[in-house]
Amino acid sequence: AFDVLVIGGGPAGAAAAIYAARKGIRTGVAAERFGGQVLDTMAIENFISVSHTEGPKLATALEQHVKEYEVDVMNLQRAEKLIPAEGPGGLIEIQLANGASLKSKTVILSTGARWRQMGVPGEDEYRNKGVAYCPHCDGPLFKGKRVSVIGGGNSGVEAAIDLAGIVAEVTLIEFDSQLRADEVLQRKLRSLPNVRVITSGLTTEVHGDGTKVTGLSYKNRNTGEVHRIDLEGIFVQIGLVPNTEWLKGSVALSPRGEIEVDARGQTSIPGVFAAGDATTVPYKQIIIAMGEGSKAALSAFDYLIRMAPV
Ligand code: FAD
Repeated sequence: AFDVLVIGGGPAGAAAAIYAARKGIRTGVAAERFGGQVLDTMAIENFISVSHTEGPKLATALEQHVKEYEVDVMNLQRAEKLIPAEGPGGLIEIQLANGASLKSKTVILSTGARWRQMGVPGEDEYRNKGVAYCPHCDGPLFKGKRVSVIGGGNSGVEAAIDLAGIVAEVTLIEFDSQLRADEVLQRKLRSLPNVRVITSGLTTEVHGDGTKVTGLSYKNRNTGEVHRIDLEGIFVQIGLVPNTEWLKGSVALSPRGEIEVDARGQTSIPGVFAAGDATTVPYKQIIIAMGEGSKAALSAFDYLIRMAPV
């Protein structure tokens, strides 16, 4: 059995594994795809002290750093069920999709999240070539250009306000007949001269020239008319979905499906900690996920040294 078993191999899971292994305790990582969302990222310019890197490069560095320690890395393994320990000091069980099961005194959940996609032609083709999901990450790449934000909830309106300070013009497109963001955000949005809001708009296609985005089409849901907008960037803000479906009924989740954690990364189950985009911790970023992963590992160690000797 492990002392610490980490589920998920993104920035949070890698940091947790390194911090745990450095305590000299038996550490394992099971991940469906080691590297996580970082593998899907091109330019990374906000990983403090590294002014520019690329996702696949950072993912390789994460894996190499983990492998410098005695960590049992189990890649391409999907966890399907968590069974809490029977009593204090007992073992927590993680069942894998391949039928095997792993046991550990503590578990750190770091299964991350995925951006909800529009599912329209061109979106996949131009992902990272104008189609973006993270304004904090990619906003500055569109300095002085024209962008659109898809989604008029809090995250869409926040993104539009944020981007309006960087880009030339922002067109926000909301599917519903009105924006769903908090009134104070909507007021701020309306005060900005370079933002245009389109409601009852359904994005139907992303256009490009083969290498980058050149525009999008949307349908006016009231009239059925299709319009085309010329632009360089599209920020999709229609939801971030935590990869926690498999935890329903075991650890406590928020209404949005995020794992509820306290300031130490402790979940509702003793010995089970969580970190990164899968949790209720706000602002989903690499550096935050790494900090939270490190914290969860230290909390797990703290928990272990308080366990009765067996
Ligand atoms: P993830 O990176 O999502 O990793 C989750 C891990 O868990 C993966 O290994 C996955 O395979 C695994 N997993 C999921 N479910 C299971 C399961 N059931 N069993 C086993 N394993 C499972 N952030 C920045 O700071 N700067 C940027 O420039 C930036 N750009 C981005 C660009 C894009 C296109 C995207 C999508 C995100 C970007 N982000 C950026 C956000 C950043 O990637 C995330 O905040 C960060 O990766 C979260 O780390 P994590 O470890 O919590 O989760």
